[in-house]
This record gives sequence, C-alpha cells and structure tokens, in this order.
Amino acid sequence: MKRVVVIGGGVAGIAASIRLAEAGLEPIVLETRRKLGGRATSFDDPRSGRLLDNCQHVVMGCCSNVLDLYERLGVADRIEWHPETWWANSPRRPDRLRPARLPAPAHFGPAFLRMRLLSTDTKILIGQAMRRLVKMGFAGRAAWADRPFAAFLDETGQSADARRLFWEPVVVGACNLTCGEVAGNHAMQVFQEAFLAGGWHATMGLATCDLRSLYDPAAGIIGEAGGTFRLGTSVRGIAFDGIRANGVVTDEGLIHAAAIVSAIPPDRLAMITSGPMRASDPRLTHLDEFETSPILGVHLFFERPVMRDDVRSYPHLVLPGRDTHWLFDKGVDESGLHHVHAVISAADEWMGLNEATVGRRVVDDLHWALPSSRGIEPVEVRSVKEKRATFRATPGIDAIRPGPGPGGNGIPNLYLAGDWCDTGWPATMEGATRSGYAAAAALVGSGGLVPDVPPGLLARWAGLR
Ligand SMILES: Cc1cc2nc3c(=O)[nH]c(=O)nc-3n(C[C@H](O)[C@H](O)[C@H](O)COP(=O)(O)OP(=O)(O)OC[C@H]3O[C@@H](n4cnc5c(N)ncnc54)[C@H](O)[C@@H]3O)c2cc1C
Repeated sequence: MKRVVVIGGGVAGIAASIRLAEAGLEPIVLETRRKLGGRATSFDDPRSGRLLDNCQHVVMGCCSNVLDLYERLGVADRIEWHPETWWANSPRRPDRLRPARLPAPAHFGPAFLRMRLLSTDTKILIGQAMRRLVKMGFAGRAAWADRPFAAFLDETGQSADARRLFWEPVVVGACNLTCGEVAGNHAMQVFQEAFLAGGWHATMGLATCDLRSLYDPAAGIIGEAGGTFRLGTSVRGIAFDGIRANGVVTDEGLIHAAAIVSAIPPDRLAMITSGPMRASDPRLTHLDEFETSPILGVHLFFERPVMRDDVRSYPHLVLPGRDTHWLFDKGVDESGLHHVHAVISAADEWMGLNEATVGRRVVDDLHWALPSSRGIEPVEVRSVKEKRATFRATPGIDAIRPGPGPGGNGIPNLYLAGDWCDTGWPATMEGATRSGYAAAAALVGSGGLVPDVPPGLLARWAGLR
C-alpha cells in the first residue's frame, strides 16, 4: 500500500516524491528522459561537448515553495542572490533598480525615481498604476482573471512608453506572454507579490551550478525512503478499471500502485489516459484546451568580456523595448570563453529562424545595450528553442486548471501535479513545486504548501494582504 507511482521527474514530480517519501511512502518516479528536472534542466551539447542549461532559470525571494524544495534537497546554498536589476538605457549606462532601506511598498521608490530610462511623466503614470495595485490587495486581482492585463493598463491610462519600457519587459519575462495576452491577475501577481510586497520578495536568485545538479540529491532521498527513480522509462498508459487507477503501463509491463501522481504536462497526460478515464474525472476534461508559449535561450561565447562598459560589469541586463529581453553573464567557461546567455520570451516569431539569424539579432541587441561591446563578435552561438515552454496563462485559464486531489467525483487514487495545475501561479518552478506539494498533501492528508513570505507591515496596512 506504500507504493505510489509518480509520472514525471520534473520539478513538480520531484517536489511531490520528496514529500511522499517524507510521509513514509515509497514513490517510484518514472521519467522518460535520462535525467531529472524536466524543462528546468541542463543538456549535454554534442556540438560543443559542454553541459548547458536549456535556459536561464530565475527564482525570486517570494518563491517560498521552490526555495523550500532547494532546502530539502540541500542545494539552497547554490543560489546566488541579486537584490538589484540592471536596465539597459543605451547609449547611456544601464539604470540600477535596487531597493532602498525603506518600508515596502516604498522601497523601490528612490531607485525608480532615479531611472533615466523613464521620463517623469512615465514615472507618474506607473506610480499611479502601482498605487492601484496596492490598494486592490491580493483579493482584488481575482476580478482580472478573465481580462487581459492590457485592459488594466488602458484603465490606468498608461502611455506607449510606460508599456514598452516598463510593463512589457517585466510581464513578458515573468509570464511569457505580452500584456495584451496574459490574464490580468497573473501579471498583477508579479507586481504585487514581488515588486511591491518587500525588498526580499523581488530579490533575484540564480543557480551557481548547472540546473541538473540541483536535483542530484533527490535520488538519495527517495532511495533512503525505499523508493526509486526510473530514468528512461515512459508511461504509455494508466491502467483504469472503471473506478480506480490500478497502475501504469510501461514498455517493461504493468507497474501496480496504490495511488498515482501525474506530474506531466496536460498534452502528455491526454496521451496516456483513455476516453472512459477522462470521462470519469472532471479534472481531465479540459486537457486539450491548454496552449503553450515558446521561449528561446541563446548561449553566446566570446573571446573577450562583453557584459561591461568603461565603469563596471553587469551580471545581467533587462533590454526594454528590444527583441532580446534579458542577458545574463554566465562567467568564463573551462576553455576561457566568456559565456553570455540571452533569453527571448513569448518567442513565437523566432521559432522559424536559423541559428545564424538568431545569433545576429541577439548580438545586435547586446551591441545596442552595451556600446563598448561593439566590434566583439561571438565565436560560438548555440540557440535552444523550447516551443512548448509554458502554458499560456490567458484570460479564463484559471477556471480549467485542475486541483490536486480527486474531490468528490474524480478518480479516487489519481492525483495531479505540474505547473499547469491550479496553483494560482503562472508556469514557474514555484508553481510546479506548489503543485507537487499540494498533490502529496492531498494523498497523505498532511503537509502541503509552506507559507508565503508575508508582505511588509506598511505594505499590508496600505492594502497588500
Ligand atoms: C526556456 C524556459 C525558461 C524558463 N524560465 C523559467 C524561469 O526563469 N523561472 C521559473 O520559475 N520557471 C521558468 N520556466 C518554467 C519552468 O521550467 C516550468 O514551469 C517547470 O519546470 C515545470 O515543471 P513541471 O514538473 O510541471 O513540468 P516538466 O518540467 O515538463 O516535467 C515533466 C516531466 O515529465 C516527463 N514526462 C512527460 N511525459 C512522460 C511520460 N509519459 N512518462 C514519463 N515521464 C514523462 C518529462 O520528460 C519531464 O521531465 C522556464 C521554462 C522554460 C522551458
């Protein structure tokens, strides 16, 4: 009765299995690929022989659950924290947005007012919208679940510059959709829970190791509990007797289980569930309705440093108004080359481009952002296209995101996890961890999410609660 099958070894599957093991169960985690981490992992690049992250993955101080997972895995010390963000403002030097020692939500005020990227009129407009976001509180954003965030920008009279230089870069980076596409509540969450709630909340965490290494300890933890990870094992179907899910079918045969946790994306779950099974569980009726949005990650290698100007080096840069959204300085690799990683979110338009064109466009943006890099060309470019990077958190989506447990009318021993489940978060590692913790809690009847990082006292008093 202790045997639980977890389908999928991404962040959600790892989070669920760790909590199941802690509760005394013996999870068997089945993962198609020969490595853990799902979309948030690294790959061996056959062309260069390097181990590369499929894309830069950022956590923030407000991501309490994924940080808890890192603690449980013993890898929390491999996250490096950046309290500030750098905003390119070519041909001038980048602006620094860093919290001051002021209570939230005023903490970003001084640095925001100093940003030369934004005119005074633009800052006033953004400030007015921020005030409204504070006053509406966390509950107020629920009313925006069925409307695009752009409608809120219209209502608050945001100018073209405010949108292009501030709202779009933040929203597209965090939600992987434009302001016109993303549901208002998801974009609002980014500003309310990261920017406005407190200095720590918006602090950006970047792994100092390759992403894959973050999950290495999971095998030991699950093994000690009597469970196992079976890599390179695909689930082909879930065995269903009309009432319960009795096990999973793999190429090696049927694996019986007392309960099953699915921690795979909705399209994959649709492939392994039969029509009768989907008809038996309301959580499975909308699997075909989830759409995805792509992300493009581009690894660039230079013989000379480029993420710098005549004054300082930049660990990262936001590129407002440009096609490339973020640049990250990944340091010097073993061969002495300077590694820069570029990220383009909502990258539909880039998916058909070849690597040479991608590289050219990204390098043009780098040269624009940091004029002192002009004339320095990459000696290697490696682009990674993730066509199904994240589910599209569009208006109305929350109504079809399923909960973790069967409730009164679902398949009683089937539990659902994955960033697309009903976590209240867009597709993020935090959302995936929450879904895994929630699925484990629904199964064992205890545990669950760790508390959110509370907003500062003044922020709460002003409405952020
Ligand atoms: C390019 C990119 C950049 C991103 N940047 C960020 C970021 O900066 N910050 C952030 O928080 N999030 C980011 N995300 C989102 C984040 O990676 C995901 O939200 C999260 O990793 C999803 O985890 P998951 O476990 O729900 O799903 P997945 O990672 O998709 O895991 C599912 C796993 O199930 C396996 N699987 C599928 N079908 C089967 C089957 N039939 N049998 C067995 N195994 C199966 C898959 O191989 C996979 O390993 C990014 C995503 C991408 C793609």
